[in-house]
Amino acid sequence: MHFHILTLFPEMVMHGLSESVIGRALERGILSVSAVDIRDFTLDKHRKTDDYPYGGGAGMVMQAQPVYDAWKSVADRIGRGKSGARVRTVYLTPQGRLFSQELAKELAKEQDLILLCGHYEGVDERVLEEIVTDYVSIGDYVLTGGELPAMVLTDAVGRLVPGVLNNQMSAETETFHGYLLEYPQYSRPAEWNGRKVPAVLLSGDRKKVREWRLGQSVERTGARRPDLYRQYQRLEACLGVLRREKLHHTDMTELIARGQAELICADGADICLYDKNSGAYFHTAESVPKGLAALAALCEHAGGRCVQEILLALHQDFMAEEARRQYEAEVLMECRQAVYTGNVKLPVSGLIRSGEGAEEGLPAIRPLGPEHLSCVAEHYDSVDREYLDDQIRREQMWGAFDGEELLGVAGIHKEGSIGMLTVFPEHRGKRLGKALETFVVNGILECGFTPYCQIEEGNEISMRLQKSLGLYFSGEKLYWMKLRLHR
Ligand code: SAM
Repeated sequence: MHFHILTLFPEMVMHGLSESVIGRALERGILSVSAVDIRDFTLDKHRKTDDYPYGGGAGMVMQAQPVYDAWKSVADRIGRGKSGARVRTVYLTPQGRLFSQELAKELAKEQDLILLCGHYEGVDERVLEEIVTDYVSIGDYVLTGGELPAMVLTDAVGRLVPGVLNNQMSAETETFHGYLLEYPQYSRPAEWNGRKVPAVLLSGDRKKVREWRLGQSVERTGARRPDLYRQYQRLEACLGVLRREKLHHTDMTELIARGQAELICADGADICLYDKNSGAYFHTAESVPKGLAALAALCEHAGGRCVQEILLALHQDFMAEEARRQYEAEVLMECRQAVYTGNVKLPVSGLIRSGEGAEEGLPAIRPLGPEHLSCVAEHYDSVDREYLDDQIRREQMWGAFDGEELLGVAGIHKEGSIGMLTVFPEHRGKRLGKALETFVVNGILECGFTPYCQIEEGNEISMRLQKSLGLYFSGEKLYWMKLRLHR
């Protein structure tokens, strides 16, 4: 990912970002930061970039021309400035949307991000109107310039880019994930200043450690952030309701467990969630009137996000029918949820080559890299190339390899289901599908989540595979639908 920071103080920005985790990511080429000196673009012979405000008042204002030309030099270089989509350009300002982990995740999806740092009393409004796509504040206080906010944003966004942190899971489980603050952390020695590390952390029992940490997170959030805690409690109440039909609602309970869910509305057993990862909505209905109220609420939510098309997973056939009738929604897929309900890992012996001296003839499974995108896209066309690229970059896709030859792939969809399982034609019949899915199931179990997939009605081959792995099917179907918002 490339950050382009438009500033009057390029050295300040470059120094601030050259150390530690972000500094290492820059060295390794996973991130790049270029500080563009706005002063280099002024047409003033004294290199002035500011002038008095029209109408009077204190301070100076950064002029439009140098800011615009600095921005254009970057936008032209990355090739999207003039026509087509406007390159994402963030103006750091105390008047902007409050920066959050959620916004950091959203911005981390961009390839290029232009950050504009103001100074003095701010920037001429006309150039802001011309170039800015997002106004972002890092807090309700006023700083002297946008450089520190730009560094804050670069740090928070940059560390979410796959490969920047050694362990991607640490970004997945930390504070603000799922409305809970992170649990307390301890390191060696086991006793310091007469204070001992909680015994459970030394027990080696991963399940107990997980439970303890969750308890601590809940307690800490209640004490320190009652606002987040209320949101957490509302989702917990939904979990209780959804678990009454466990298999049928695994997609929704996993959204909550994995910290991806935003609650749109809940009325008894009628619950609607928004998945912050995929942008899709999930709804289970108690009755038609409640279900229609939920559809209206999610359309309003989607309208606020300025999207025209909604992806929606409906859990009742009567709601699929209503959505078709009242919203002209189109059914994309009818499927059943297949869930691995155990917590013991699946056996891999005889399926996967693991480590030195292991059985010959078995595939080795490892994460895919960008170099595999074309090969995967050639064999799997149920999602677009951009989606595959995203999932590969997020380290959510794996391949079965014989040496360097890719034989088949599997992955985890954005909302959390196992999918994209494809064994290339010439390698079918060698239990590679089973090997790949076993690997993904075990990886999900290691993270403490429930592995599940969604099998399209009539896909007998996949049904057989899920059964052979010990997954259970939901009795009820769910409907993936596409709904267009009329404006
Ligand atoms: N007069 C401006 C106002 O009231 O909105 C404040 C200008 S401030 C002194 C100078 C620059 O610092 C701003 O243009 C902005 O780029 C940056 N800045 C100050 N506080 C900020 C904050 N809380 N978040 C993001 N940027 C900020």
